[in-house]
Amino acid sequence: MFCRSSLLPLVDKNQDMWLALFFLLGAAVGSFINVIADRLPAGKSIISPPSHCTGCQRELSTKDLIPIFSYLWLKGRCRHCGVTIPRRLLWVELGTAILFAFLYWHYGPSWELALVALYCCLFIVLSLIDLKHNILPNKIVYPAVIFAIVIAALGSIFGFEPRAIAGTGFRLWIVDAAIGGGIGFVLLLLPALLYRGGMGWGDIKLATLIGLVTGFPLVLIAMFLAIVSGGLIAAILLLLKLKSRKDAIPFGPFLSLAAMATLFWGSNLLNWLIPS
Ligand SMILES: [Zn+2]
Repeated sequence: MFCRSSLLPLVDKNQDMWLALFFLLGAAVGSFINVIADRLPAGKSIISPPSHCTGCQRELSTKDLIPIFSYLWLKGRCRHCGVTIPRRLLWVELGTAILFAFLYWHYGPSWELALVALYCCLFIVLSLIDLKHNILPNKIVYPAVIFAIVIAALGSIFGFEPRAIAGTGFRLWIVDAAIGGGIGFVLLLLPALLYRGGMGWGDIKLATLIGLVTGFPLVLIAMFLAIVSGGLIAAILLLLKLKSRKDAIPFGPFLSLAAMATLFWGSNLLNWLIPS
């Protein structure tokens, strides 16, 4: 008789190998995300010059370019001049590595895995830039909007089921995406019009992008999560007097985190809220 259990160790071993590979891939991608987040707002080229120390300008050797590990064995300092390497670089590499392993575990080998990984990278870059510079660059948001529309159109034409992306059951994903984008736009445009200085154009554009990516009705979950988490953290920061009412707390990271959570678990949350 065919015994399934005898096959399982083999399957598990493969799974572990793929998880490890995606962890390493994520670490490398995280390292590239750091480069983009540092250079793009300054209008510098992402490709040249090669990575160098901001202290002594010396080019980094291959050994010092290995994500996560090079930070650890250099103990966070440049080997030549001893200048401190920002700890953010390590956290982003480690975070992206864990995220990529999680994505593989969550989606398995599929086109959703590639697409969601790409969107996640986009959201991480935007969050990092917004945290540091309080802007969400059009240079990233506009191409991403076009990409999301193209993907939605392709999904409609070729009929691949965007189950993992939007478990809505609609056949025409482009309609879903268009309604989603519209809702994201309007939901953030209203507070921007009502309270001056509350919401920037960057946030409105990002919400539109998130609506296009998640589609209707998942966009409602994404916006709900972003507004609740953003409001909660803002209230805590004000209560602890870490920020004053005049400080602008960037909303981009909350929108981004909410969008990622919605891509992973939005359908489950929706089914739980509105049992079909
Ligand atoms: Zn140096």
